[in-house]
Amino acid sequence: HYRCRSAFKLLEIDDKLHILRPGLSVLDCGAAPGAWSQVAVERVNALGTDPAVPTGFVLGVDLLRISPLEGAVFLPEADIADPGTQRTIQNLLPAGKVDVILSDMAPNATGIKELDHQKLINLCLGLLNLSQIILKPKGTMLCKFWDGRESHLLQSRLKEQFQDVRTIKPQASRKDSAESYYLARLYKRK
Ligand code: SAM
Repeated sequence: HYRCRSAFKLLEIDDKLHILRPGLSVLDCGAAPGAWSQVAVERVNALGTDPAVPTGFVLGVDLLRISPLEGAVFLPEADIADPGTQRTIQNLLPAGKVDVILSDMAPNATGIKELDHQKLINLCLGLLNLSQIILKPKGTMLCKFWDGRESHLLQSRLKEQFQDVRTIKPQASRKDSAESYYLARLYKRK
């Protein structure tokens, strides 16, 4: 029932590392077509399906349009790097804060590996700036990157701001792809 096979990457990561729990609020960056948001809605109990556990919240943002999904709030046709988008996100979040930032964002690939790598690293670094405003202390950030010469820069920036940073290569990612994820946990409060 998932909109996209990418769901299995998040399911795999979450089954192993338990980043989504009932009651958490989640920002899903690069959410279209919405499969990660579907997983997040289920795992944080955003619909309140299980009345015995807390109800969470999911906000998905993308440059593209996204079909509505019960339990999620979507901000479509919005660039995460745009300060206007960032203000809107803050206004849409409960108390302006999130527990978990997910990013499966990918820029339109030019085919020039080095350039695509750099663009994605820059998107992630921008997200790290946004996290300083919206991420709760001890919060989590999971972000996709394409490996290349600037990966270590992103990794060291994450290590400055989070207590626990690890690299994940899900089985569900195609073996030949340069795609990996950084999972950064325990955000240090400023
Ligand atoms: N996780 C999604 C799912 O499971 O349905 C798939 C995400 S897809 C691999 C990457 C998405 O990142 C694209 O839809 C693209 O439009 C979005 N994206 C790329 N740059 C973005 C930006 N600056 N702001 C918001 N979304 C962006």
